[in-house]
Amino acid sequence: MPRHSRHRRREAMGVLGPHRHIPDLRRIKQKSCRAEIGQDVLQHFRSGFDKGKSTMKKTDVILVTGAGGFIGGNLVSALLSDGYENIRAVDIKPITEWYQRSSDVDNRSADLLDKSACYHVTEGVRYVFNLAADMGGMGFIETHKAECMLSVLINTHMLMAARDLEVKRYLFSSSACVYASDKQMAADVVALRESDAYPAMPEDGYGWEKLFSERMCRHFREDYGLETRIVRYHNVYGPYGTYDGGREKAPAAICRKVIAAKLSGDLEIEVWGDGEQTRSFMFIDDCLQGTRLLMESDFVEPLNLGSDQLVTINRLTEIVEDIAGIRVNRRYNLDAPKGVRGRNSDNTLIKEVFGWAPNISLEAGMEKTYRWIYDSLTSDIAAHRATSGM
Ligand code: NAD
Repeated sequence: MPRHSRHRRREAMGVLGPHRHIPDLRRIKQKSCRAEIGQDVLQHFRSGFDKGKSTMKKTDVILVTGAGGFIGGNLVSALLSDGYENIRAVDIKPITEWYQRSSDVDNRSADLLDKSACYHVTEGVRYVFNLAADMGGMGFIETHKAECMLSVLINTHMLMAARDLEVKRYLFSSSACVYASDKQMAADVVALRESDAYPAMPEDGYGWEKLFSERMCRHFREDYGLETRIVRYHNVYGPYGTYDGGREKAPAAICRKVIAAKLSGDLEIEVWGDGEQTRSFMFIDDCLQGTRLLMESDFVEPLNLGSDQLVTINRLTEIVEDIAGIRVNRRYNLDAPKGVRGRNSDNTLIKEVFGWAPNISLEAGMEKTYRWIYDSLTSDIAAHRATSGM
């Protein structure tokens, strides 16, 4: 019998409360912001996260979807180096095209828009990190709204599979794009608290899909007892991610442009917008730490995971120039996709829940990112020269 019907029957018999793992949940059901979550409830969540003690056992089957991509690939590597023995990694891309892959992992290529594929890859799984989505930087999500929204099928089918196949915990990768656009109109923006997602007016296409999927996670938890976790990533950057082809985000795009300027000697680069729009950027190591903390914790509400080091795109460019050791001329393209004027992460809640927040500086993270992109680009150029006989 699928878990949801069994759960409902046992609930009707009085064996289970509707939220058997976290009895306080009903009390905070309507609450989603720091100011509204009481200290007693936070204490309860904290006690569920005992530092150094992992809920996930090294032998548990852990599914990472989107494992051929940036965050998923880095997560698989981190879990592997921490000794997890049964990792299943899935992506729609052919395995040869993944940024990272290991023969110690059960690697599978599957299209998770397809319901039967979701059930197939979830067989025997205890923990799901659902990181698969058809997405990219602003240049992609502003021009592919329908494609972004179709990712709702991935989360819908993965949730159904997780519910029916008795997955213990399911983490959904949401985004800061769920936040209402009228709260992000100024460059010196007030940082976004979790409660700022409502009243809802998210990023068109991509943001609506994420907000809808967040609510589906919540209702699967409330109605079927599936333990869901929802992380709202603010811009993540680092090695082993997209830096060209149209899906890249600002940090990787600026690295690529500055590297191209350095290698070619043509010192002019294009910057999207006037460069005074603001963002915060989180290095991948912080992203992985926060993601795993959330998965291990009993905290069930959507949680910001992002840096609160606010910078302009001009400042980000200067950081890359410093790393490269050159100065470039910036040609501002005011017609390019720019997204909201300003966005930052309010980290009050994550600090209260975990006593931790992302803290790797942009300067340190960009150094590592630049080096990786530089090496990838120069080895691509060398490989191209070798095969074309240049
Ligand atoms: P990514 O594009 O590098 O990885 C996503 C992966 O999902 C890709 O490898 C893609 O091939 C795969 N995928 C797409 N459609 C699929 C399908 N139908 N079946 C199976 N796999 C499919 O992106 P990322 O940066 O690693 O993002 C991971 C998650 O985090 C996504 O859900 C994304 O929306 C979310 N997120 C990322 C950021 C960020 O700054 N990177 C910010 C907010 C939210």
